[in-house]
Parts: sequence; C-alpha cells; structure tokens
Amino acid sequence: MFDVANQPPPLEPYNLFASDTALREAVKREHAGWAEEGLSRLGATLGKPETVKLGFDANKYTPVLRTLDRYGHRLDEVEFHPAWHELMGIALRAGLHSSPWAEPKAGAHVARAAGTYMLEQVESGVYCPIAMTYGSVPTLKQAPKIAEEWLPRIYARDYDRRFIPAREKKSALVGMGMTENQGGTDLRTNTTRAEPAGDGTFRLTGHKWFMSAPMCDAFLVLAQSPKGLSCFLLPRWTPDGERNAIHIVRLKDKLGNRSNASSEVEFDGAFAQLVGEEGRGIPTIIEMGNYTRLDCAIGSSGLMRQALAQALHHSRHRTVFQKKLIDQPLMENVLADLALESEAAAALTFRLARAYDEDDEASLVYRRVVTPAAKFWICKRTPAATYEAMEVLGGSGYIEESVMPRLYREAPVNSIWEGSGNVMCLDVLRAIARTPGAAEVLRQELDTGDKRVGAFSERLQNRLQASERNDEAQARALTRDLVLALQAALLVKHAPAQVSDAFCAARLDGASPAFGLLPRGLDLRAIVERAAPA
Ligand SMILES: Cc1cc2nc3c(=O)[nH]c(=O)nc-3n(C[C@H](O)[C@H](O)[C@H](O)COP(=O)(O)OP(=O)(O)OC[C@H]3O[C@@H](n4cnc5c(N)ncnc54)[C@H](O)[C@@H]3O)c2cc1C
Repeated sequence: MFDVANQPPPLEPYNLFASDTALREAVKREHAGWAEEGLSRLGATLGKPETVKLGFDANKYTPVLRTLDRYGHRLDEVEFHPAWHELMGIALRAGLHSSPWAEPKAGAHVARAAGTYMLEQVESGVYCPIAMTYGSVPTLKQAPKIAEEWLPRIYARDYDRRFIPAREKKSALVGMGMTENQGGTDLRTNTTRAEPAGDGTFRLTGHKWFMSAPMCDAFLVLAQSPKGLSCFLLPRWTPDGERNAIHIVRLKDKLGNRSNASSEVEFDGAFAQLVGEEGRGIPTIIEMGNYTRLDCAIGSSGLMRQALAQALHHSRHRTVFQKKLIDQPLMENVLADLALESEAAAALTFRLARAYDEDDEASLVYRRVVTPAAKFWICKRTPAATYEAMEVLGGSGYIEESVMPRLYREAPVNSIWEGSGNVMCLDVLRAIARTPGAAEVLRQELDTGDKRVGAFSERLQNRLQASERNDEAQARALTRDLVLALQAALLVKHAPAQVSDAFCAARLDGASPAFGLLPRGLDLRAIVERAAPA
C-alpha cells in the first residue's frame, strides 16, 4: 500500500459564519447584527461532517418520479432520499423560507440572505423550494383570503414532508410554474387555459415545460383566463381532499441541481384560485420574481464563497516544490483574485438584500435596477470562479468526492432561470428609464470621494444619460459596468484598503477574462488571509 501524504484534511467541521470575515462584516453593516448568534449556530450546523454528507447524498440519490401506483392509479409523486428531507428540515428550522415575512424587523431580509448564502454552500437543490416559497409571499398577499389561509403554514418552521392536503399539514411550501414549451421569457405566449368554474374558482388545462420542486404544496402559475393572462394558486390537493389534476410527465435530466426535482407537468382541469387582478398575471407574479432574482445573486455569491473556501483550505495544506501552494506567488495571485470576486459579490448582495428591508427611494431604485444587474453579473462570474477554484485543487478538484464538480455544475443555473442574462440586462435598461430618481440615487451610491471610483462612475453616468443607454446591444456592457462601479464603491467604503485597492486596479478597466491576472504592487497576502476560512 502507498502512504497517503501531502493531502489536506477535509474542511470540516467548520463554522460557515464565524469563519467568513466578509460575511460577518456585511451582516453587521446591513443592519442584521442582531442575527449573529443564530447565524453562527446555523453556520456550525451546516459545517458539520454529517451535514456536508447530506449534501453529497441528496445529489447522489436523486429524486424518483412515481407517476402511477401498481394498479395504474395516478400518483404524480416524487420520492426523495432522506438526506433531502433532512436538509429541508434544517432550512425551515432556520426560517430561510419565510422569516422576514413571519417576523419582520430591520435587517430581516439581510439575516435570511446570510442564512441562504450559507445553505447554498452545502447543498443548492433545496434552495429552490426555499427561494420560491420566500418569493411567493408578496404575491399571495395580493389575494387576502388565500393569504389568510396559506400564510400561517408558510410561516411555520416545522418541515412536513407528507404528501397530504396542506390544511392537514404543519407547514407548506410554494413553487412556481410560468415557463411553457413555446416560451419562458415571453410569458405572453402561455397557452394554459383557465376556465371559470362558476363558483369563483377556475379549472386549468395545459402544460408547464419547467416546474421545479413539484412536491411543494401549491404553485403560483400563469394561465389565460377570459380576461387575459392571469396568476393562479394551484394546490396539489383540491378542497375536497382529492389529488388535484396536476400530472407530472417527467423529471428533467439536468446538468446540475440534481437533488432538486424539476418537472414537466400537464394540467387536466386542475382546481385553481385567482391571485391578484384577472388579466394582470405578469405584474402579479413579477413581485415574486424580484425576490427569486435576489436569491439567484445570493445563491451564486454563496457558490463562489464555498469554491474559494475550499481552494484556500487546500492551498494552505498542499505542498508543491517545498512550499505550500498558498505561498507560491502565482497561486497567491489566483487566490487573491478569486477572493476579490467573492467579497465584491457578497458586498453587493447584502447591500441589495437591505434594500428589501427598507422603503426609501434608494431602496426602491436598488430593488428595481440593481436586482437584475446583480443577478446578471454575479451569476455570470460564478462558473468562471468555480472552475478556477476547482483547478486550485488540481486533479482532486475534478473528482466527484470533492464538492468542486457539484459547485461547477450548479454554477450556470442561477443565470438561466428567473430570467436569463440578456433578459436581466434589458430589464436594467427599462428600470433605469422608469424608476423615478434612479440616476440621482445611483450617483449618490457611487459617490465615495475615491478618485478611481469617481473617474469610472463619471464615465458610467455619462453613458446612463446619453441616448446610447437604450442601445439593447450594449445592455450587457452597461450592466457590467454598473455592477463593477457599485462593487468598487462598496469595497472602498467598507473593506480594508488592500481589498478595495486591488479591486479598483483589477476590475475598473473591465473584468479580467481569467483569474490570477492581478497587477504588481498589491498586498495579495492580506487579501488571501482575510478570505481564509479560519
Ligand atoms: C433547472 C431549471 C429549473 C427551472 N424551474 C422553473 C420553475 O420552477 N418554474 C418556471 O416557471 N420555470 C422554470 N425554469 C425555466 C426558466 O425560468 C426558463 O428556462 C428561463 O426563464 C428561460 O426561458 P426559456 O427556456 O423559454 O428560454 P427563451 O425564453 O427561449 O430564451 C432563450 C435565450 O434568449 C434570450 N432572450 C430572450 N429574449 C431576448 C431578447 N429580447 N433579446 C436578447 N436575448 C433574449 C434569453 O436571455 C435566453 O438566453 C427552470 C429552468 C431550469 C434550467
């Protein structure tokens, strides 16, 4: 037998909160300091070897669709490995699916964002029903009777895996079905029909090409009613206690996010209740979209943090040519660059989450303009960052026993769903034009007194005011620069000078196409040490 030598110990147990300096600072800065104790407990739970194993198991033993029972009766059920249910239990106990709504207070969305940022690092699939349930609440509130019935169970923290009518359950989860075969971006092409049943409810007939987490207790869906495209709540069980006519046709065989069941479904006269005004389905469900887009930015920031933490941990323990990897100058450059990307993503994400806690003009601009911008750029950087971090581990990073392949496969999805990259950038253009005070609020946010940020943001402001702002072909470039300016401003205001100096030097000329290209004269050691999981 060969000796095992020069191999790092696993990065566990560790506390995902206590060991993440940038996260702890962001939580405090964005008014969620009161949540530190709970977040530290959650960070410790998530970093236990047994929790980490749950993440592996949930992705190895993937969900199985049971369409019919052995006699041929419809079941339309998905079976999950127990690991999935345990992870869901951890997420619900921490309130990640609804705590800001159940217990509103200053910093509530930020505290929840910090919890989901950590959850994503251990297992991403469960994040999907958690995010959709969180996002569903403002939309459900547009139907007071439905809200009265459903919100108490949505606010509950006892995960109830049973497939029974929601009214008999301790808690409930809500998914979403908008995308149809012929179009996901252009929702006006939805063909699912909603016929009035004569008693104020509707019957839905049609399909959804993607409907994730189909074991949720209900779904917000779009369908064409007599007055146009409308939003409906579609429960898995009818009020009579029958299985609703929601037929799961198949589960998608996905690149990543494999623990989560994403299904194709057909509705065969399924019971549904109208949410919001009939004919105004898109504005009704878009409320939910803002929150799930925020969650894409949080999730991708979390993926980058986990990839970085693993890379830093590995390079501290692995020796190459008589030196630890972390002490090799070129590796230090790669790690520092990854750390900058991760901290910039986290800084913007948590600032954005605070905008969901507040109601002033700046928050409104942040919610409308910066949500799609952050989703675009942070999600776009994640595949590159997870890939680079994987390479830090050498061959072992490519092997399934490490978490790196899972992070890498997960990385593209946050950019695709909830509105893909181009759609986000076009949304940024529209939001800048339509949100009162947007230009002035952004100007104030970018006003740091720092010359580098000042020069960059002045050029950006000029572009925002010029007619080229509406040039769709340039929407990605404009959105990238808006995010880079905001990230630089946040780091200049709040991060140590070593971090903000390096970010300004490396990013304000346009993001580098690869990592490890930081110029000379920066304090790379300080950046790496700050990011290291203790
Ligand atoms: C794993 C997974 C789970 C999902 N779960 C759900 C779910 O639970 N519920 C749900 O409703 N949907 C779900 N989706 C669907 C997802 O939201 C859609 O795939 C997405 O919105 C894109 O829609 P589409 O696939 O129809 O692509 P299209 O709408 O055909 O878009 C294709 C491309 O064209 C680009 N594009 C669109 N319009 C323009 C334009 N004007 N200019 C330039 N480019 C443009 C888009 O950015 C995109 O890159 C899921 C998707 C995945 C991958």
